[in-house]
Amino acid sequence: RMNTKKITTSSQALDGLLGGGIETRTMTEFFGEFGSGKTQLCHQLSVNVQLPPEKGGLNGKAVYIDTEGTFRWERIEAMSKSVGLDPDTAMNNIYYMRAINSDHQMAIVEDLQELIVKDPAIKLVIVDSVTSHFRAEYPGRENLAVRQQKMNKHLHQLVRLAEMYDLATIITNQVMARPDMFYGDPTVAVGGHTLYHVPGIRIQIKKSRGNKRIARVVDAPHLPEGEVVFAITEEGVRD
Ligand code: ATP
Ligand code: MG
Repeated sequence: RMNTKKITTSSQALDGLLGGGIETRTMTEFFGEFGSGKTQLCHQLSVNVQLPPEKGGLNGKAVYIDTEGTFRWERIEAMSKSVGLDPDTAMNNIYYMRAINSDHQMAIVEDLQELIVKDPAIKLVIVDSVTSHFRAEYPGRENLAVRQQKMNKHLHQLVRLAEMYDLATIITNQVMARPDMFYGDPTVAVGGHTLYHVPGIRIQIKKSRGNKRIARVVDAPHLPEGEVVFAITEEGVRD
């Protein structure tokens, strides 16, 4: 984990859980049920990567690959204003890409190297959600093998980009809330082992009271165990 850099989440508690923030050279997965805040976290990080290092950013740009059509420029505007960035500049520093199906999603990531070489300011690549097209197009057990094979190729490309270009990649993954989730093996809950063998940091997000959310890191021996509480507000992710 040498030479990694961190991007703040705008929550000190969550940053603390992550050892300072989302790190470069690493793929980070946010997983949790609908409305748990995965997409809001992605918006916040695509703003925060632009902050100067003394404010927790990398003076960088973001690529936002949206598979579900849930990206909102208004949220970027509100979040950027709130952290003291000019909203127009902040919006210009996000390469927005809408992936209409899984082949398109994979092709976008395959072509990304060219863009990153052209614009080395890119320090964050987000795929929100990484699993939805694959689940819709390759449903059920009968398609498990081909779904896994395609997903694995896709995920390894994202890991490779992170390592080659010293950037952070973030993927999101919707999972059903299950009462046994915190007690059983949570990896089993994730799309039938889909993401299990790919290296990276996995963060589980749970809804709590009101705008509060609970985060915990799964399977990361180098990070402390435990849960933290953060909030999602009009201004973005906060403590
Ligand atoms: P899904 O799996 O369905 O994609 P998700 O984990 O991506 O869900 P988000 O879309 O990030 O969930 O979170 C939605 C929640 O974020 C809303 O229910 C609300 O609580 C909060 N939220 C969204 N926009 C705002 C806002 N402008 N002000 C305050 N809270 C907001
Ligand atoms: Mg979402």
